[in-house]
Amino acid sequence: MRKPFIGGNWKMNTDSKSAVELAKSVVQKCGPMPGKVDICICPPFVYLPAVKNALGSSNISLGAQDVYFESKGAFTGEISCQMLKDIGCKDVIIGHSERRHVLGETDELINKKLLAAIDAGLLPIFCVGELLEQRKAGKTEQIVKEQVQKGLKGITVEKAKAVTIAYEPVWAIGTGINASPQQAQEVHLMIRQLIAAMYNKDFAGQIRIQYGGSVKPDNAAELIAQADVDGFLVGGASLKADDFAAIVKAAAER
Ligand code: PEP
Repeated sequence: MRKPFIGGNWKMNTDSKSAVELAKSVVQKCGPMPGKVDICICPPFVYLPAVKNALGSSNISLGAQDVYFESKGAFTGEISCQMLKDIGCKDVIIGHSERRHVLGETDELINKKLLAAIDAGLLPIFCVGELLEQRKAGKTEQIVKEQVQKGLKGITVEKAKAVTIAYEPVWAIGTGINASPQQAQEVHLMIRQLIAAMYNKDFAGQIRIQYGGSVKPDNAAELIAQADVDGFLVGGASLKADDFAAIVKAAAER
């Protein structure tokens, strides 16, 4: 049985005071639950050290929202995997839809970031998902397949063991409209079958596939009840400790 994994993506929210308060509140409310569930929170880069400190000795891990693939040098504004490791990050979100569609990241760049993150010992949360017009055109499977294949290109099964895939239909992110449990399950199963074809059946049975897109306390239980939904990547609801804890609880009680 795959252990559920819940990530909180704070995006470009909080400030130095509220980030620490939110992290402390998440520790207090979710603290007893790790064991049954893996939990990570991903604050903005600049608040990572303060949030790390607030997480203290809890089992909640620290993640970044992005990373660059080069290890050092003239890349103004970028952050390396080694820098993230240096300040205690364990997880890193790569290929989030906002990076793909607002900031123009390509599958090729995402592939380089995944390879660099794994080689540095980080655990990537690799995001994929179709746009609304792509779903309407019946292209969901094609788009998601392509993103998974291109993103994981050249990544061996040993290396891919570090990866969690997050299926995040773009039309569901921040819109309040979540994919139905059936829609999520259908794509998650397709991804798992693809992983079996790309690697092997054993590994396909082990890899965790999170769902992301308007996950809230009132839809988490029915989504996590799906056979191939192994947790969530949570945006908006991760900014409220009570909501995030309720989502974690739904996963723990699965
Ligand atoms: C996300 O940012 O990955 C996300 C799923 O956001 P939201 O939960 O707000 O839809």
